[in-house]
Amino acid sequence: MSPETIPSDYTIIRAARLFDGTGVAPASGQALLLKNGRIAAIGSADQISAPDGATVTFKDYGDSTILPGLVDGHTHMMAPGDGTHGDITGAEQDDVLLMRALQNARTFLHAGVTTARENGAKNRVGFSLKEGIQRGLSEGPEMVISGRPITITGGHFWYCGSEADGVEGVRSEVRKLVKEGADFIKIIATGGSTWSSKPLLPSYTTEEMTVIVDEAHRFRKLTAAHCASMQGIKNALDAGVDMIIHCVFEDETGMYEFNEPLAEQLAIAKAWVNPTLHVVQAGIDHTERIGYERGWLMNEEQASIDASKQSLETRYESVSRLIKMGVRMIAGSDSPWGAYPPGEFVKEMVALTKAGLTNTEALVTGLSHAAESIAVGNDAGTLAVNRPGDILIVGGDPTADLNALWDVKDVYKSGARVARPA
Ligand SMILES: [Zn+2]
Repeated sequence: MSPETIPSDYTIIRAARLFDGTGVAPASGQALLLKNGRIAAIGSADQISAPDGATVTFKDYGDSTILPGLVDGHTHMMAPGDGTHGDITGAEQDDVLLMRALQNARTFLHAGVTTARENGAKNRVGFSLKEGIQRGLSEGPEMVISGRPITITGGHFWYCGSEADGVEGVRSEVRKLVKEGADFIKIIATGGSTWSSKPLLPSYTTEEMTVIVDEAHRFRKLTAAHCASMQGIKNALDAGVDMIIHCVFEDETGMYEFNEPLAEQLAIAKAWVNPTLHVVQAGIDHTERIGYERGWLMNEEQASIDASKQSLETRYESVSRLIKMGVRMIAGSDSPWGAYPPGEFVKEMVALTKAGLTNTEALVTGLSHAAESIAVGNDAGTLAVNRPGDILIVGGDPTADLNALWDVKDVYKSGARVARPA
């Protein structure tokens, strides 16, 4: 029997609109044919059919939109997303972190995220998460993993287990991560929320970061750098980093300045920017909720709200100016880090519209652009024939209102409809 004659199951999906993820306006009257886990055909609903005699499942979703499964370019599946500090999460046992990661990965999938780029977990948690999902032991998005972020001794995320210093130290850490199965290399270019780190100061020297990038690229792996302040962005760009995360335009004293030459360098380098806007708002909302429930706020809580509000305002300003300069943004939620719960990726896309993107552009930052920026553009983020059947169907039209993404009708992973709790 040739492969063509083996009986196979077909699924035909139909809805009022189809958004292919590239930014082209939604097409109406379209249908999509799934076979063997892949998209076998897309076209006018009256022309899409399965061969005679084949078993077909037919689903008509009515006033809904078919789109590619969402691509979240920045996740931390081991974290609870309930306001727990990273250092507390980082002190937990690996097996507990893995159980939580699996639970979160399911929540992401049920919310329509079929591909996620995991930006750092502790020890082997990220690797095991990816393997468990791939082997069908648990359900979740396709995982693109860094394994562990590379950081200086005592730097942000040191508790994940990849502290490395000096050019030889970082070179060997990249090789170790690649050996373990890292899909990309996450670099901690400045401090962050980790207590022993200094967010306003650069961590690696440009020399060290250049070695990390060269070594990663030699293995055909992309790099992404956490940059919570300006000198870190500068060092990362000088080193040739592919993606700048957070991209905070603050100097060593915390003073905001939209540094034009640095912004131009970003644009010329064609580096992707993942600005992680909503995670800051989620932190503000969380602390305000604590104050509301308790009836009052501690001085340091109020101070943290004020500082975050000010920082968010300047981040919106810098991101909107970068967008106007043609710097390409991608949506990566950074959830469930901090107080940003899993399953709410849409909030980051909505935040990007507040920075000046249209609804369609914001969708693209979480679809084809996100996929391209993490080197899975041939498999995810766009609906096209022969690609994996990773599909999301939502009620209404997300190009008219992004909040339509909350109304998930169905999610398909590798051509199979995902069973979700009612
Ligand atoms: Zn992160």
